[in-house]
Amino acid sequence: MPSFHDIVGQRRSIHILQSFLKKKTYPQSLLFEGESGLGKRLAAEVFSQKILCHSDAADTMEACGTCLSCQKMRNQNHPDFSVISPDGNAIKIDQIREMQEKMIYKPIDGQRKIVIIDPADKMNKAAANGLLKTLEEPPSYAMIILVSAKALSLLPTLRSRCQKISFHPHSFSQIVHILKREKGWTNSDAQLVTATTHGRLQESRGFDIESAREMDDKYHKLVAPNDLFETVGIFSGNNPDLEAALSYLMTWIRDALVLKSSEYKKQSDPAMLRYAWRVEELKSWTAQRSGSEIHDLFSDLQTIYHARTRNVNRQLSLETFLIRFRKYKPIHTQK
Ligand SMILES: [Zn+2]
Repeated sequence: MPSFHDIVGQRRSIHILQSFLKKKTYPQSLLFEGESGLGKRLAAEVFSQKILCHSDAADTMEACGTCLSCQKMRNQNHPDFSVISPDGNAIKIDQIREMQEKMIYKPIDGQRKIVIIDPADKMNKAAANGLLKTLEEPPSYAMIILVSAKALSLLPTLRSRCQKISFHPHSFSQIVHILKREKGWTNSDAQLVTATTHGRLQESRGFDIESAREMDDKYHKLVAPNDLFETVGIFSGNNPDLEAALSYLMTWIRDALVLKSSEYKKQSDPAMLRYAWRVEELKSWTAQRSGSEIHDLFSDLQTIYHARTRNVNRQLSLETFLIRFRKYKPIHTQK
């Protein structure tokens, strides 16, 4: 049975949920927001299960797992708990109406009736407006948990009715830790995959080490002393690899800034780097540039990266950037 321990990181949000559990006072509507893969839905389920659990053990923040309510949760037939998910590509008004009709009746099993709506941003306009009525005047026993990776696209009136529980992206080292635990990978393999997927946990989990090595070799050409034309090729036109190439460079420059920092000079710990296995090349690249030059490259690259469209201006800034990025003496590879 899942528990709060299965949610990695998110200490602050879990602390808030547990403080509701301790006081046994609950907001009637909550919004679990944050990008996907952070454990929002899992947290919503664990939280619901504990609220509905019959066991009153005050010393634990977890549901007992054995009472009748916990059994029903496990068998997915708890009468006071339901999940609304898209019917086709949207959550429709009929689904909200059906929930509202059931919500009229008091809980059968305990004190509360809990509904999770996931992803809440999939509610169409009619459904969202329909739900708003419930959030405005909920029965005392009702609790609605909206789960969304795109919370800003929800109706502002819905958002403002909810207590927000924010889920934050995992840190680089948290993901390395998760991958080592789940996949049994070595530290450097876990680092490689984490860096290649830019710290996106879901993506990391589906990645294999060979593909990560291939990608690393491919994008490393951007900083190594290869033919500039080859590099320009990666950056040109609508190359599908462009975003990945930009991400690679961002991380590279980020590491270069870390190397320049007094913090790194003090600790000299390669674990502070995303591309720790490239530490010697990074040092050599960084040694040829001043901190402010690297800063400028970083902010230029950020602007390019966040420019929404691949228009002519973006292409021009990219080329200018690349010339500045590469105009210095290239790194010498060992022959
Ligand atoms: Zn229980």
